[in-house]
Parts: sequence; structure tokens; C-alpha cells
Amino acid sequence: MTTKTNSRTKLNKIISERASRLSPSGIRKFFDLLQKMEDVISLGVGEPDYATPWHISEAAIKSLEQGYTMYTSNSGIFELRDLTCRYLKDKYGIDYKPAGEILMTVGVSEAMDLAMRAILNPGDEVIMTDPHYVAYDSCVILAESKPVMVPTYPENNFAVEAKDIEAKITDKTRAILIGFPSNPTGAVMTRQKLLEIAEVAKKHNLIVISDEIYARLTYGMEHTCFASLPGVKENTILLGGFSKAYAMTGWRIGYAVATKEIIAAMTKIHQYTIMSAPTPAQVAAIEALKTGESDVVEMVEDYNRRRKFIVKGLNEIGLPCFEPKGAFYAFPSIAPTGMTSEEFSEKLLKEEKVAVVPGSAFGQCGEGFVRCCYATSLADIEEALKRMGRFVKKYKK
Ligand code: PLP
Repeated sequence: MTTKTNSRTKLNKIISERASRLSPSGIRKFFDLLQKMEDVISLGVGEPDYATPWHISEAAIKSLEQGYTMYTSNSGIFELRDLTCRYLKDKYGIDYKPAGEILMTVGVSEAMDLAMRAILNPGDEVIMTDPHYVAYDSCVILAESKPVMVPTYPENNFAVEAKDIEAKITDKTRAILIGFPSNPTGAVMTRQKLLEIAEVAKKHNLIVISDEIYARLTYGMEHTCFASLPGVKENTILLGGFSKAYAMTGWRIGYAVATKEIIAAMTKIHQYTIMSAPTPAQVAAIEALKTGESDVVEMVEDYNRRRKFIVKGLNEIGLPCFEPKGAFYAFPSIAPTGMTSEEFSEKLLKEEKVAVVPGSAFGQCGEGFVRCCYATSLADIEEALKRMGRFVKKYKK
């Protein structure tokens, strides 16, 4: 009699290979260290220091008081889908139908995972920038596919060139993933550069997943929505959310818009894994879209003041920093200290109690840089710069 040995027992492994291949987020490691310390100034966490504007929270509280605590439709409350589509139309002139072309998700995080699982087959390749947001390559790996990196550099303002993307295309390439304004660099893309990527995507019939979670956080330049470029809407999965613009990270609400076919596939996975985005969060998002515009404008003005202050300060203390035009991150070079980004971040935390994130957490090209989130008070930024200045002086080569 032959015994069936399943490959898992053979490998004597409980954890799947897919999960084993993921590296723990380099950001989390620093949060864990940080939690054990007192008086730390954190430029680490990538989220607004504001609480959600009260009228937004209040709308959700009222809905709970009225007993509105059930599941919603898998796609999300119709009014929210309708308002989001109208918002995209007003802001960028693009038409998506609230019935079938939009899905409300548990943040862009879920939308990203769904997008990958809906379009990728094992062995497919997805082209993305290095450095990139920590979840991008992991979502591709979880879909049993391969992330393919296009290096970006400060000399180019961390923008990505269409020709560099095109050079990475193989017969396995299925999609291009772009995320601008960028986490971790704060880079933005000009309309012209995005048009060139759109041409490459059309020429090679590739899907573009565009993570535009920081779309509202740009300084001195208008955001170009990728899906609004001529002839590329059919190829695009546009991801957006409420976390950053409305200071709603903990509510966990975002969305994906795309063709009916793609949204239907994403909705199937969402239906079996999530069911529906949190109901109170959807109610809060409705309020945000209806009455939250002035809050966004006010917060963006404030981030801009902090951005100018930190970029100037970092350059003055001897950490060269290119000018980020979006999101709320500065990404200075730490080359003058001769340390690796992990070494720099760990020493800075231990010796001066300032938390930053090592650039290596965002890919190989992030080495030699650290991410400083300036969504914190000006007073804290000022004190952090003072401490970092002392640190750089001590270790400068
Ligand atoms: N995309 C980028 C580039 C991010 O920086 C983040 C969060 O930091 C996310 C997606 C996840 O956002 P959400 O809170 O909508 O899941």
C-alpha cells in the first residue's frame, strides 16, 4: 500500500510557503521598539496626527445610536458608491458607474490585495518602483506572482520613467503598479510622465494599478489621476481611500474603481473574505464626501507648512533631502554618516529618541535614506531636528 505524503508534511512545515516568503514589515519592527520607550518623538508612523474631523465621527455615532449596525451590500452602501463616483467625476472628469464599477473596501490595503488576486495567475509579473510602499510586493507574492523592480533615484526626484518600465516587460508581465504621490519618498509624477506610462501600458496591453491614496496631499502641483488619461481607463484599476486625506486611518475604508469585469472579480473575493466594509466607516465616509472638503484643505495647508520646515531643516543639519511634492514624507539621504539606514534609525532612536523608518524597509533603493513622516506638530518636528542635528554632527564622516 502506498502512503500519500503531502508535500507540507514532507517539508515538516506548518506555515505555507507563500506566507513564509513574506518578510515582516520593517516599519513594524521600529514601532515595537518605540513602544517600549518614553519621550520619543515619532517621525515614524505614516498617518495624520489629526483626529478625524468631529462632524465625520458624529455622523457614524448617530448611525450607531439609530441601530444602523448591519452588513451593507457587498459592494458598499449605494449612496457612498454614488458620492465617490461623483467625486471622481468632479475632480478628474472620469465616469464610473456606482452600480458595478466601484467596490468599497477595508482601506486601500484590502483593495490592493483584491486587485492582485483578481488579475494575477501564478508566475505572472508585476512591475513596480523601488523604493515602494511595503505592502506592494507582499500583495504580489500572496497572489503567487513576482514583483519586478524599477529603481528610482533622487537625481530623478524618485519619479519613474516609462522607458525603464518598458525595459522590464517580459511575456509574463501582467501589470504595472504605480503609487504617486509616493510613500516613502513623497515623489509625484508629472502628467507628461504618466502619459508616457499610459502609452506603454496600452502598447503592451497591461493593467495599471494606480494607488492614489495620497491624491489630495500635493503641494504646489495638481494631482493627475491615471485613469483620466486618454484611452487608458479600461486598463486601469484606480485605488483610493479616506485614511490620509480625511485623517481616517482607523476607520478602514477605501475603494477600487475599474471595469465591470474586474470589479466583479474583486467583489467575489471580497464577498467571501470580508463581506462588506465596516458599516459605521461607510457612514462616516459619506459624511466626509458631503461636508469634509474644508477639513482636507485646512490639513493640507498645515502639512505644507511642516513640509517646508522639515525639508529645510534636514538640509541644514547635513542630510540632503530632495523636495517632496506630495504625501507627508521627507526622504533624506543619510550618506554623510556612512551608516546603513537600519543602523542610523536604531542608533538615532536609542541615543536621541527620535523614530524614523529605515529606507531599506521600502526596497533596495531605499538603502541610504530614512523616511521621516512630518504629519506631526511643528514643535515636535523642531525638537526632532535639533536632536537629529546633534546626532549627525557626532557621526558625520
Ligand atoms: N497605499 C499607500 C501608499 C499607503 O501609504 C498606505 C498606508 O500607509 C496604504 C496604501 C494603505 O491605506 P489604507 O489605510 O487605506 O489601507
